Amino acid sequence: MSPQVLARFERAASDLAGVGRRFYERGWVLGTSGNFSAVVSERPLTLCITPSAAHKGALDAADFLPVDGSGRVRRRHAGRPSAETLLHVEIVRARHAGAVLHTHSVWSTMLSDRFRSDEGLAIESYEMLKGLEGVHTHQHREWIPIVPNDQDIPRLASRVRGILTNGAAVHAFLISGHGLYTWGRTLADAERHVEILEFLFEVKGRSHGSRQGS
Ligand SMILES: [Zn+2]
Repeated sequence: MSPQVLARFERAASDLAGVGRRFYERGWVLGTSGNFSAVVSERPLTLCITPSAAHKGALDAADFLPVDGSGRVRRRHAGRPSAETLLHVEIVRARHAGAVLHTHSVWSTMLSDRFRSDEGLAIESYEMLKGLEGVHTHQHREWIPIVPNDQDIPRLASRVRGILTNGAAVHAFLISGHGLYTWGRTLADAERHVEILEFLFEVKGRSHGSRQGS
């Protein structure tokens, strides 16, 4: 890596470690769940990504790895990149994202299960939707696709490519029984999307549950 890319990598690693601490405190990445990445070079494509099996509340900047556009590690490192690295690469390529964040919250897990047969869920008419990039009114219907979970990551990545390149203006998707993926032009945009979506999932989950109970 050039000195400029290395400097961007070190900054991204430190910023992503901060995201890990904040998300852990919110209960969105308990245990070793979740993974985060940020683009540090577009040509050649290089991502700074979380290591596999790391506790996200106790990440150190030195834990992060640089990976290329095929998900291969670009320099010697004792750790391995996140198992879902290929999903990050697919999202970066399809959406020109600068950062990708993946969480395993209670609400995203429950809703991804509850709406699995619909292959997605709609959230509409909430003021908080305006926190999503390009949404300027509460009169908006956000469709969040649900992809079946799969331990075969290349197959899962190819399904994700399908939903991201079909022209739909999605900001995120869920993996059934698993969690949320969202992204942004910058890391701050991606972090805001997680906060907005987690809020909306909880509203959706609680109001759906109360209607069922009434
Ligand atoms: Zn996951």
